[in-house]
Amino acid sequence: MVRKCRVCGSRDVLPFLDLGDQPHGDSYLAKSELLKKEPYYPLRACFCSTCSTVQIDYTVPKEIMFENYVYMSGTTKTLRAHFEESTERLIKRFGLKEDDLVVDIGSNDGTWLECYQGSGIRTLGIDGAKNLAKIANEKGIETWDVFFNKKIADKVIAKKGEANLVTAAGVFFHLEELHSVTEGIAALIGERGVLCVQAIYLGEMLRIGAFDQIYHEHLTYWTLRSIEYLLSLYNLEVFSVQLLPIHGGTAEYLIAKKGTRPAEASVAAMRRDEKARELGELETYEDFAKRVWEIKKEVVSVLKKFKSQGRKVFALGAPIKGATLLNSFGIGTDLIECAVEVNPLKIGKYMPGVRLPIRDEAQAGRPDAYFVLAWNFLPELLKKMKNYIEAGGAFIVPVPKVIVIDKINYSSHV
Ligand SMILES: [Zn+2]
Repeated sequence: MVRKCRVCGSRDVLPFLDLGDQPHGDSYLAKSELLKKEPYYPLRACFCSTCSTVQIDYTVPKEIMFENYVYMSGTTKTLRAHFEESTERLIKRFGLKEDDLVVDIGSNDGTWLECYQGSGIRTLGIDGAKNLAKIANEKGIETWDVFFNKKIADKVIAKKGEANLVTAAGVFFHLEELHSVTEGIAALIGERGVLCVQAIYLGEMLRIGAFDQIYHEHLTYWTLRSIEYLLSLYNLEVFSVQLLPIHGGTAEYLIAKKGTRPAEASVAAMRRDEKARELGELETYEDFAKRVWEIKKEVVSVLKKFKSQGRKVFALGAPIKGATLLNSFGIGTDLIECAVEVNPLKIGKYMPGVRLPIRDEAQAGRPDAYFVLAWNFLPELLKKMKNYIEAGGAFIVPVPKVIVIDKINYSSHV
C-alpha cells in the first residue's frame, strides 16, 4: 500500500505501531448481530518525516463511523463542566456579545453550545451524526446534520454571516476532509474571527502512554508543530496555546488569520518544549511503541492473577478507546465478564471485536474489581465509587501505568 501524508502529501510516512486489524471501535453490536462477521480494518500509527504529523494510514469511511454516533458529550459531568469553563473564558477573552455568531463543528448533542443559552449570542452546531443533531435540535440548539467542509462554510456565511468564533472540540483528529474543513474554517472566520481547536495532545499521549487514543476515528494526532504546518497552508496561525486536563490531556489552540493577532509567549514555549522532547523524530514514536507492548504484558498478567484467584472483573465503561485496548491486547470474555455503562445507547449491546456484553452499571451488581477503560475520568470515577472501594472493591487502571487501586492505597489516588 502506498502511504501518502494526510497533511503534506509526502510519501515519507513510516509506520511505528501496528495494533493489528480491528473492527471500528464504535461499532457496538446488537445481540442480533453477533452471528455476523464484523468488518476488520488495519490500525497502524505512522509518522510523516516531512511535516511530522502522526496519523493512521487506513481510513474507515466517515459515513460508517459518524452517521449514527453513540458517544454523547452530555453524558459526563466532567465534560459538561469543561465546556462551561471554556465558554465563559472564550466569551470574556474575545468580548463576545449579543448577536455575535459562534459555530461549533462536530457539535455532538449540543452540549457545548448549550452553555451559550441565555447570552444572546447566536449559535450554530454542525454535526454529521444525524441522531445527535436531532437530539440537539430538540433541545432548541440549531444544528445542521451535515459534515462540515468548504461548501458548508460558504452556506453558513450566506445564511448567517461570518463567525466571530468557530469551535472544534474533539473533532480535529477525526477529519477525513482535513483540507476542505480547514479551508472552510479560514473562510468562515474571515479577517477578524477566531478558531478554537481542542484536540487530544500527542505530546500528552506520549507522556502518559495513552496509546488507546489511537483508533480508526482518530486519523491524525496533533502537536503544535504539525497543526501549524496544516494551518500555514490556509494562511492561518496559532496565536495562543494551552494544555487542558480533559480527555487525559488536550491542547487548546487559538487560531486566526496570519498576522492579525500577536502570538503569545505560550506558542514559542511549546515549540521549544516539543523540540526538546524530540516530537519531530521517528525514534520518539518507536520508543512509545515499545512502551505499549510493555503495558500489554503487565495488564494481561494482572488480569490473569485476578482470574486465577477466582475474582470477578468487569470493565468500567465501554469507551471506544477501551475497544482499542482490549482488541490490541487480545483481552476478551476469558478475563473480563462484561462492561458496565451509564450511556443508554450502549447498554444491551456488545463491544466490537472482543464482544464483551455491555450491562447497565446500576443493575449489573458489583464485581471484585473494575478494569477502568475510561481512565481519563479516573478522578470522577474514584469519587463516585468510594463506597465500593472502601467495601473491598478494586480498580485496575491500565494507563498511564498499570496500577491496582484498593482501600489500602485509595487515599493516595484521590
Ligand atoms: Zn506530512
